[in-house]
Amino acid sequence: MTEHESVRQLLALSAAGLLDAGEERLVREHVGQCAQCAANLDDYLALSAGLSELPAPHPSADLVSRTAMLLAAEADRRQGAVFAAVASIFALVFVLLLAAYGFAAIESRPTIGGVVSAFAALAIAGCGLLYAWRPAAGGIVD
Ligand SMILES: [Zn+2]
Repeated sequence: MTEHESVRQLLALSAAGLLDAGEERLVREHVGQCAQCAANLDDYLALSAGLSELPAPHPSADLVSRTAMLLAAEADRRQGAVFAAVASIFALVFVLLLAAYGFAAIESRPTIGGVVSAFAALAIAGCGLLYAWRPAAGGIVD
């Protein structure tokens, strides 16, 4: 890409005052040597000045209120997702400890209670895993 082409892409941003000092210096140096870019920059400056003179509409109070409510709901949802993930991890650790206890009971002295608690703990652990993945997938946490 030639300097002319790269500067052409910066002309509108220069007119809007959005370039950093280095980019602005590059534009100014090039415009001093290139009549076509100088003319384009003048057009962009005139357009920018015209746009800044237009009245800026203010959003309605209803729109501002609804937007604020949506932002607050999104913040609550994100906070709830973090809480649900942490709670799920703690629940999962608890259930895995319960399962380990159940399997230890089966190994040392097989009883119906030990078998039932081991399978129940595994089932609960599976549900905990599903729930833990739910907020990570962007689901809504109640
Ligand atoms: Zn040029």
